Amino acid sequence: MITAEKLQILSDAAKFDVSCSSSGSNRKNKGGIGNACQAGICHSFTKDGRCVSLLKILMTNYCVYDCAYCVNRHSNDTPRAIATPTEICDLTMEFYKRNYIEGLFLSSAVYKNPDYTMELLLETVIKLRKLYGFNGYIHLKGIPGADEKLVMRAGEFVDRMSFNIELPTERSLRLLAPQKTKKNIIVPIGLLRDEKSERLSFKHKFLPAGQTTQIIVGASPEKDGQILNLTQALYGKFSLKRVYYSSFVPVTESKLLPTQPAGLLREHRLYQADWLIRFYGFSVKELIGENENLSTEYDPKCAWALKHPEFFPIDINVASLEELIRIPGIGVNSAYKIISARRYGRLSLDDLVKMKISLKRAIHFITLSGKFFGSMQDTTVSQSLKLNAASETAEQLSLFSTPQIFSTVLTGEL
Ligand code: SF4
Repeated sequence: MITAEKLQILSDAAKFDVSCSSSGSNRKNKGGIGNACQAGICHSFTKDGRCVSLLKILMTNYCVYDCAYCVNRHSNDTPRAIATPTEICDLTMEFYKRNYIEGLFLSSAVYKNPDYTMELLLETVIKLRKLYGFNGYIHLKGIPGADEKLVMRAGEFVDRMSFNIELPTERSLRLLAPQKTKKNIIVPIGLLRDEKSERLSFKHKFLPAGQTTQIIVGASPEKDGQILNLTQALYGKFSLKRVYYSSFVPVTESKLLPTQPAGLLREHRLYQADWLIRFYGFSVKELIGENENLSTEYDPKCAWALKHPEFFPIDINVASLEELIRIPGIGVNSAYKIISARRYGRLSLDDLVKMKISLKRAIHFITLSGKFFGSMQDTTVSQSLKLNAASETAEQLSLFSTPQIFSTVLTGEL
């Protein structure tokens, strides 16, 4: 059995990887142990706000690579450990049976070489599925540079895989992670996408929960516009389920890196913009220029609305769904509520209040039966939006956050 000391090293070493926050996979028990359910694997949030699953572990933190930003880099003096496939399987089963976890997120540093590491990871997931009969959720990290046959084989046994992009441009990758290349990250993502869609046409399951990736924000000089353009391409061309952003934290000393953390507000704004791209029909071009950063003062939808007065005010009683969800403060749920309530008559301001539609931001951008209730003064509007934005803290989600932060981030009512 894996020792507590080893477990501490390997789970602690995994905490900076944020590409694993939910499952999205639904599979019934077929005689083994456990189910994967769409509600997602168990989550926990560490003190600094990072999302971790209860069994989120590296197979090893011995690494032959030397990525400047990484605590596990070869040249960093840190306690090291390695777990065997059997140890990881035993641990997963023991935790699962005790109801500590609902799945496994298994990653690894590059041990000896990419192929050897991927072989060990593959051996672990095959054992877990076939020998131990584990039917729960598995998210496996892909090792850039590993043989594609190993990667494809892994896709048959796990729910989700992720190859981390890490840095937004090849230039930054060359500088900060010289042993990695854009090619050996992007090629397997493309192959997995193709394999999944081919098997889907034969109704064969392959990576049912798809792929995700992680981008480190602020370790290199790329602006939010560049990062979001990359994100848009990853969703569009590679059908990724999620792109996660990890704000840079200096955990090692390197002349190549900033000395200050990138800050969680930047990460938060990127998640907000990402949400607008995925669920609100915004394109990156509308939100931000290639060489710009997102506003720190306003959330991305408010910033867009302030730049586009020609779009407003919008008449709540006639606007389409697409127009409603562009109003600051009105999210998809509120827009559907409005559209469904309109079937019974014209809506008044009181009706919106009764329907619990948040008007703090929206009031300056709407009319109701020709009446406008907001401020005509640009400065008053921007001031009140700024005050609303200031109520968002710059922290990542925590179990102990106030309900307001949950409603902003989890429901995406931007
Ligand atoms: S490959 Fe790079 S990022 Fe991954 S563990 Fe090794 S040093 Fe860290």
